[in-house]
Amino acid sequence: MFRDNNISASRYSTKERPDWRRLEQTLESQVIDVLIVYETSRAWRKMHEWTALVELCAFNKARIHVTADNRTYDPNDDRAWTTLIEDGLDSEKESRKISKRVRRAMDANKQNGKPHSSPAYGYRIELDPNDHTKKIRVPVPEQVPIVGEVIERVASSDPLIAIAKDLNSRGIPSPSVAQGLKPHPRSKGPALWSPAMLRRICKNPVYIGKREADGILVNGTWPAIVDEELFWKANNVLADPSRKTTKPGRVKYLLAFHGTCDVCGSYLARMGGREVNRYRCNGPKGCVTIRMDWVDLFIGELACHRLAKKDIYEILAKNDDNQKNLTTELESLRAEHKEALHLRAKKKISLIALSQEEERILPRVAELEAALRPVTLPKVLEDLMRDAKGDLATIRARWKALAIPAQRDVLRSLFKSISIRPTKTMGQHKTEAQIESMLRERIAHEWHNE
Ligand SMILES: [Zn+2]
Repeated sequence: MFRDNNISASRYSTKERPDWRRLEQTLESQVIDVLIVYETSRAWRKMHEWTALVELCAFNKARIHVTADNRTYDPNDDRAWTTLIEDGLDSEKESRKISKRVRRAMDANKQNGKPHSSPAYGYRIELDPNDHTKKIRVPVPEQVPIVGEVIERVASSDPLIAIAKDLNSRGIPSPSVAQGLKPHPRSKGPALWSPAMLRRICKNPVYIGKREADGILVNGTWPAIVDEELFWKANNVLADPSRKTTKPGRVKYLLAFHGTCDVCGSYLARMGGREVNRYRCNGPKGCVTIRMDWVDLFIGELACHRLAKKDIYEILAKNDDNQKNLTTELESLRAEHKEALHLRAKKKISLIALSQEEERILPRVAELEAALRPVTLPKVLEDLMRDAKGDLATIRARWKALAIPAQRDVLRSLFKSISIRPTKTMGQHKTEAQIESMLRERIAHEWHNE
């Protein structure tokens, strides 16, 4: 038996492989009948070495048994020789592919142990009390609740600008002030909280104890300070393209730039110059207009009734279960990956073995992460329904207490579309019944999950 499991046989390995020399000598002395290798790809990744080995075995009349194939080859047989050489070639190809990824993983692992020189807000660098040669990232007690508050409020659809104003008015030092960075020479005072800073915080996986490597999140060496589910909820809120707002009308009115004109498909906008606010088709023709207060009330009622219905509970519960299963799978894969890295660090498995593990684990991790993000329910929707048990009055009261941006997020997760049809009965809406039947006729909507 010749073992060099712990030394990579790959073309890119730089370590010496002592057994190779001994194997050559042994083959030359013709004491081996059959050379056993686990599989060609694991045993010999250097094509020229593999070819030399096959030739050496042929010359010394030794057969080669490949455990993975469960076959014994006689290299003096032409067909067997071809198979062996082709396998070697395939292995080398594979090796060239793997080596790139291994090198990247190694670089990433190096960084893993050494936290970045300037830590994210919420953490600071300290010497490891167990090992003074190492630096570790530790939470800063007075900053942890601020990070938590920011992510929680963003997840609850609080506008970034409102959160920034609030933090500034409470005199909470912004990250650059808290970290003692010098203000910009032209700035008038210390840097204040801004929506951009809050966005950066919400998007930084460092707060869930992870870092990004090659587009995949892997566990870091520092503790998480924010619940992972909450973190992704906040990210979903920020990722919603209809939320990126430049026009103030988009956050002030429930359906502005969300609902559309049923005639031309343009968004609705607020119509200026009237005593009572109206939505108006924002297209060139301005096809439809409708009283804003009536529509908002009607849509709010639709949403509340929908949330009070049992079926949506069931839909959401199903999603939750499915999500839990996926989360469990994700966590166990991450644990396996961590274990593989750990074993590699202790040199108990080869680089190739690590690479093969990663090839199995990491693509699935990326897949699960992608699958988990969109199914995360908006926090505001959860809050509306929590313990309401389908009670319409409870849900309605909570709905009315929500700010417009939060209500807009609820609508986005419930409705596929809301559009306004032109009126057929101009000016005939005096009684409540007349108004309601007009709204029923003119407001078209489609639900998600239906
Ligand atoms: Zn229109």
